Amino acid sequence: MKKIVTVIGARPQFIKAAVVSRACANYGIEEVVVHTGQHFDANMSDVFFDELEMRPPAHNLGIGGGSHGQNTGRMIEAVERVIIGEKPDGVLVYGDTDSTLAGALAAVKLHVPVAHVEAGLRSFNRRMPEEINRVLTDHAADWLFAPTHTAIRHLKNEGIAASKICLSGDVMFDAALFYGTKAEHSGDVLRHIGVSPKAYCLATVHRAENTDDPKRFRAILDGFNAYGLPIVLPVHPRTRAQLSVFGLTLPGNIKAIAPVGYLGMVMLEKNAALIATDSGGVQKEAFFYRVPCVTLRGETEWTELVEAGWNHLAPPGASDIQATMKAATGNTGRDVSPYGKGQAAEIIAKHLVEN
Ligand code: UDP
Repeated sequence: MKKIVTVIGARPQFIKAAVVSRACANYGIEEVVVHTGQHFDANMSDVFFDELEMRPPAHNLGIGGGSHGQNTGRMIEAVERVIIGEKPDGVLVYGDTDSTLAGALAAVKLHVPVAHVEAGLRSFNRRMPEEINRVLTDHAADWLFAPTHTAIRHLKNEGIAASKICLSGDVMFDAALFYGTKAEHSGDVLRHIGVSPKAYCLATVHRAENTDDPKRFRAILDGFNAYGLPIVLPVHPRTRAQLSVFGLTLPGNIKAIAPVGYLGMVMLEKNAALIATDSGGVQKEAFFYRVPCVTLRGETEWTELVEAGWNHLAPPGASDIQATMKAATGNTGRDVSPYGKGQAAEIIAKHLVEN
């Protein structure tokens, strides 16, 4: 493969693409980046291109803010136009967002091979929009880059040919290794927020299952309130909108801040006593920095961290969120390394160039 179109649009995809794009360039692959516009606020998009030293996207589709159906439909149409114009040898998509699915569907219908980074993740909860996106993308893809052996097992169980699957490791681990030291020199985000190392919990909440249900949302905020330590909460735009729709007020121990850039987030993660999150990426970053984590969901795609004792689930409706948080604090897990050796991007780029 010589030329690739990469379709990204959401915060975690910028981070994943930053490391893979660099590796692709090292392997001489010409890459045309398409930003769908799914995340468009400066602190959800531009900051990552700046901090992670990514080239600005060649195409910015400006599609965001609509329903899943609207966004996905408009993205398919616009990505199709880009693919027809650019004539790539393949289309590269990441993760499980509407941008992922739109990129995959546009490509596969034009008979352009699809490469999926983070293939094979499953929550087995079909009510999650992300689960539908990942299953359909995996079944449209020609190259499936699985982060773990568990992900490979899921793909094989669904009848996907082993010849299409490559065990790459997790590109977010690459990112953590690459940017972890850089983050140390990124400014004093803790002092700016007014918290001390290991004396706060870092929290993120943005999944529909938590923010679309006022009872569940309230239970999480009550759990945070009862935890005791300050909670640093970078508030995702959809979470901010839902707080105001439901008229929910934040307890006094929550330090709500605007979404932070990746380097600031890494510092907040490294120094937290505990991380409480419904984010897939943040669960793993907690482990990369050896911070115990409570996942504010009934299930997780990253089951190895639950098995190893680093991650603790607080299912929907749990009345004991704060008890789970307290029990997890200071409770480290086993020393495991399920996500590769930090060479996932390199493995992906090499595989692409050789196929
Ligand atoms: N992140 C960030 N700033 C924030 C919150 C998260 O840079 O204010 C990063 C976080 O470190 C991780 C990624 O965004 O690398 C996770 O994205 P998100 O939680 O939006 O998506 P998910 O991983 O759940 O798909």
